[in-house]
Amino acid sequence: MLVTLEAFFHDALRPALPGDVDVVTGPSRGPASTVSRLVEVCALNLKLALPEGEDLAGGREVAFRSGVHRWSANGKQVNFTLPKDIQGEVVELESPPGRPLRQGDQYVLEGNTVRFYRPPAQADIAVVAFLRGERAHGFLERRRCEISLVTRAWAREHGEADKLLSSALAAALLASSDIGNLDDSAPDDSGVRIRLRRPVVTLLGLSRGAEEHEETPFFRAQAEFLIRGEARAARRRRGARAREPYPRGTAALSPGRVPEIFTTKEEVSMSDVVHQKGILDASTDPKQDSYVIMTAAVLGYAWWRLSNGHDCSFDFEIKDETLLRPDNKKALEDDADFRLHRSIVSKLNAALQNNGMATTKQVKVGITPIYRKGSTGNMIIGGSGHEAAGSNERCNPMFPTGTTAEKLFDLAVGNIWVQDPKDQQHKRWALGYQGRGAYTGFITGRPDGQTGLLSTFRHTVPQSGYGRRWHPTTPIDVPVGPGETQKTWGMIGTKALQDTLKTQGMHMDKESIPLVPGRDIVGYTHGMIQAVYDVRWHEARLGKGKGGRPHEIAVGDATTKLASCFPCTLFMEATGFPPSSTHIGRGESWSPLYPDGSTNSQQVCWSQCNAEWHQFCQTVLEKGLACLLKNKGGKSFVHSDYSGSLAALGAYVEKQAKAPRDFANLILDALTVHEGEAKRVEATLVLL
Ligand SMILES: [Zn+2]
Repeated sequence: MLVTLEAFFHDALRPALPGDVDVVTGPSRGPASTVSRLVEVCALNLKLALPEGEDLAGGREVAFRSGVHRWSANGKQVNFTLPKDIQGEVVELESPPGRPLRQGDQYVLEGNTVRFYRPPAQADIAVVAFLRGERAHGFLERRRCEISLVTRAWAREHGEADKLLSSALAAALLASSDIGNLDDSAPDDSGVRIRLRRPVVTLLGLSRGAEEHEETPFFRAQAEFLIRGEARAARRRRGARAREPYPRGTAALSPGRVPEIFTTKEEVSMSDVVHQKGILDASTDPKQDSYVIMTAAVLGYAWWRLSNGHDCSFDFEIKDETLLRPDNKKALEDDADFRLHRSIVSKLNAALQNNGMATTKQVKVGITPIYRKGSTGNMIIGGSGHEAAGSNERCNPMFPTGTTAEKLFDLAVGNIWVQDPKDQQHKRWALGYQGRGAYTGFITGRPDGQTGLLSTFRHTVPQSGYGRRWHPTTPIDVPVGPGETQKTWGMIGTKALQDTLKTQGMHMDKESIPLVPGRDIVGYTHGMIQAVYDVRWHEARLGKGKGGRPHEIAVGDATTKLASCFPCTLFMEATGFPPSSTHIGRGESWSPLYPDGSTNSQQVCWSQCNAEWHQFCQTVLEKGLACLLKNKGGKSFVHSDYSGSLAALGAYVEKQAKAPRDFANLILDALTVHEGEAKRVEATLVLL
């Protein structure tokens, strides 16, 4: 890598300096007595940051066999097809070399053809594709790194060294503003390949002096640079031979040559995603981490509700409606699930009281309103959650008014029947996701216009710019991988299930872009949350209270509860739309929407809502953690199995979490480990 960097700067400086001045690279003993002027470029060292946590191998990832394919271009061509004998899928594209492109924005992949929107500029090597094949022996490691580089100008005449350096410096600074990814230029069969991602160069300082070399006096002027980037080292396991090592020398520059390198993995831009075993620490258990984080969040939320003058009820989902009949009370009391639910609520109350909550203020065991397919009132209401429990204002909304709203409602619940021209059968026609846990976001009461239905939206979490996120390095339930029985992290179910979810109406983002298991994190934004963003956006234009009311309509055959999931509840409470009812079942890989940083009013509104939610997450997590850490008579409310994760959460909050967003991201990470919140609370807390 040092040699590669020197070569980069050498090529940048060379044209800026007089032709009779030698520009040399590498360590040097200084100028020989036979020269009068000389410029040197020397990369002195590369330092890698240690992996997080105590386990030096904790951040290692699986490696895939991979290769590189290079194409020339004539300036007109837009389609580039991989030759038939090339194995693997394209995971990254650069054009010109060193400049990563964004799939979807600059090109699309259609089978083994890369289709550009604009033709790449003419060049012998115009397009570089990085390919990923089957799993390989070895591993991939990514770590932050720093490189020191120095440029020295030597001259015998006074003032000449300064002149040379000033030309060299201008050229170096210009080039460093435009430096792309760098590959180690001399890959060999040693089993290690290093790639420097997104290097950033900064000038550290200038210095000069007068020295004697070979008994000849010289003036020296030098500039020191610091380069920071992300080094990716891929290592082959000893004994596992490269099938076809990257040839030395010119082969790397010949278009069309596809050396198959032993290993390396798809590359991503500077990433804020931490790849390690546990969410909180490289050595903690990720499931236990998720249990403790969500238990703290549930406790902290309950504390916030109760100490701010609201009731707090976690509503139980009744599957058998007969249990609600007055003559069936005993059967309900005996129902195993219901008993478990009550025990969870008792544990929460005990921990709250230990932390000073008055005994008159208790979390209540509620029953979620029942969903009756196709009937009116099948809605969760955003914004009524501070009304009295059980009141009409809280959970009996008016039927949506206005023709468009009514039609949309019918569409969402599948109340519209159409005759199929193929078989003349009348079929129910529904819009939006109708599968398990199906709710459709819906807005009523806006004076001017109606927003369409908002189904659960699957997308990928941005890898950088939105705070630390976590990706596991050990399998949890469904393993991460490209197979049908595997998944991309965060995904609900397996890869094979995704088509089913799609046919049930789930809206999936940028489907033409294949997910990259091992890198991507999948998230789901529920319809209610999309509705909240939409209402807030219109409020910004129309005034508070005039943007309409967000709802979620229960739809489909597999959904029975009219209650918001816990992560939706946090977001709704934070943004001013507390839900009519909350359950503590699953909110698998729940996600907010990520604004793209642009300044249009919708994106600004998303950022604003997210900021309020971040703040609320910090409030509830900090309070919940305090409750968990407070012992009673020397005994902990946290089951001993979870004490490691509890300590790690305490350390994380104290040392690593810096901004409110870090707290929100912890909750998001915990939700990628799929489990119901009730189960997590039940396992984590003990009753004292
Ligand atoms: Zn939800």
